[in-house]
Amino acid sequence: MPRKCPECGWIWPKPTGPCPACGSGDAPETKLMDTPVFDGAEAKAPWHLKLLLGALGVYLSWRFLQMAGWIADRF
Ligand SMILES: [Zn+2]
Repeated sequence: MPRKCPECGWIWPKPTGPCPACGSGDAPETKLMDTPVFDGAEAKAPWHLKLLLGALGVYLSWRFLQMAGWIADRF
């Protein structure tokens, strides 16, 4: 599907890449396709989630061991 350059109005035959006529930046469609900011946010979100879940797991394991020790002291 050809696109029209927002700078010079050239009809682009290529789906991606800079304008062959004026060499200006990418069209809005291309900016939607390669989104480095969005990719970085997507890659960082699961990393933080894993860290949070890992910390929660360690904390809950520690609390469980504490509780087991407290119960063992009672009997
Ligand atoms: Zn152009």
